[in-house]
Amino acid sequence: AHTLRLILGDQLNPQHSWFQQVDRQVVYVLMEVRQETDYVLHHAQKILAIFAAMRDFAQQLRAAGHRVRYVTFEDPSNRHSIPDNLTALAAHYGVRQVQWQHADEWRLDTQLQQWADTQALTCSAVDSEHFLTSRNELATQMRGRRQWLMEHFYRRMRRRYRLLLDNHEQPVGGKWNFDHENRKPWRGTPAEPTDWRPCHDHRVLWEKLQRCDVPSFGDPQANAFRWPLNRQEALSCLKAFITHALPHFGDYEDAMSSQAPRLFHSLLSFSLNVKMLHPLEVLERAERAWREGQAPLAAVEGFTRQILGWREYVRGIYWAHMPGYESLNAFGHDLPLPHWFWTGNTRMRCLQQCIQQSLQSAHAHHIQRLMVIGNFALLAGLDPAAVHRWYLGIYIDAFEWVELPNTLGMSQHADGGLIATKPYISSAAYLHRMSDYCQGCVYKPTQKTGPHACPFNALYWDFLARNAQELGDKGRMTLMYRQWQKMPPEQQAALRTHAEQLRQNLGTL
Ligand code: FAD
Repeated sequence: AHTLRLILGDQLNPQHSWFQQVDRQVVYVLMEVRQETDYVLHHAQKILAIFAAMRDFAQQLRAAGHRVRYVTFEDPSNRHSIPDNLTALAAHYGVRQVQWQHADEWRLDTQLQQWADTQALTCSAVDSEHFLTSRNELATQMRGRRQWLMEHFYRRMRRRYRLLLDNHEQPVGGKWNFDHENRKPWRGTPAEPTDWRPCHDHRVLWEKLQRCDVPSFGDPQANAFRWPLNRQEALSCLKAFITHALPHFGDYEDAMSSQAPRLFHSLLSFSLNVKMLHPLEVLERAERAWREGQAPLAAVEGFTRQILGWREYVRGIYWAHMPGYESLNAFGHDLPLPHWFWTGNTRMRCLQQCIQQSLQSAHAHHIQRLMVIGNFALLAGLDPAAVHRWYLGIYIDAFEWVELPNTLGMSQHADGGLIATKPYISSAAYLHRMSDYCQGCVYKPTQKTGPHACPFNALYWDFLARNAQELGDKGRMTLMYRQWQKMPPEQQAALRTHAEQLRQNLGTL
């Protein structure tokens, strides 16, 4: 062989130009390594999903005639580090060059570059052919601007990819943004579609990983595993989403319910992030559904904004600010995560539902991540780096390039407002309006102090009071501060004392 080509666990795109021709002088290598299982504590389903999908991908490459070396976790020759395995395999096959697709995480990108610098071999990285912008494009576009607005970026992307435009290059429907139509609570109808995802039995793989003492948390659901293994399965999921959920995606995009954990979300983030699906094909399918009258514009625009806008935008933020972004902590928050982040055992019903769902399914939708778990973490003052590690571990779709800007930036505002013009915070009223979580909760959303007051209330006002200097003059926050200033001083003091007690006893909530 003359070339070794590394395929990472989130690079499972059979349509990559690498695979268009069969060359038996090229050895494709995939490896299951401790380096990747152990860099953070992962949900069991995340490890299973990636390894099972990698195994399936290797099989498909072999079936297409490619030469593949698959290093399993238990393989005695496995050195459990990507660079060490590459060194050994390059020598074993006597190759002259090693290639890889650009890694999306700074951690791996740097590790591979550093390894290459020590090699006499020719090493090179090629494009992963997945994203709609290059790594550094956002940084170049935004150079010199104080605020990097997603909306500007998104509109440029709509024009560039000609999505949802009329013949005059204007947005269809006469406006770019239908967000205000996408904020309905869900009261039980229309029914949540049945889970359309495939079901796999991964018990054998799971037992193997357990024998190797791979650390993990969460429910593996190994006997009824619901994440797609390959592009074919991901395409069926896309089709089912377009038919059964996209029509209602917009209306209930921000809704939450203990009766319906998925609601009308696509559950496509895993398939997209491991590159089984290309973002443009997903967006074109959604646009076609609107053009054919199968889904309303507000739903399709909202969906497009997430993938064409937010997904590419946060990646740009990541590459513009790494390394260093991971340790930003604008509010100086330092409380450890309460133990119930790992069990869901809290009496706050919203957090109990969202965390238990995450432990069970390795998924929570955007508003659960942002306005329940993230909102609580920010108001309580949890250490953003610990919050980041928790999100990076628990969600099936968590890869640092997308997880970190969402957690540290959008949700914890620890970047001082680079991504979001104001912190995403709310008191209990918002949760009560957008979900059914408050029903049957021991804490009452309408009470502000006292043993049965919902902790979100005092924590919210205390957060505003603590940060009045930094946030008080932000345009979009003035309404909230005006409300705070109108409160009698005794009430302000009672809220702050109550919040202090809560913050000292987070473990008992
Ligand atoms: P849908 O609601 O159906 O949305 C469609 C697609 O849009 C998603 O599959 C995803 O690819 C994209 N998308 C939507 N919102 C975002 C966003 N804010 N940033 C980037 N892409 C977006 N998404 C991840 O893919 N990985 C993460 O690790 C991750 N961590 C998050 C952490 C926090 C604190 C928050 C608030 C959000 C995070 N998100 C992350 C974004 C979003 O919550 C998930 O993409 C979404 O819930 C995945 O479920 P879905 O596929 O059903 O999404």
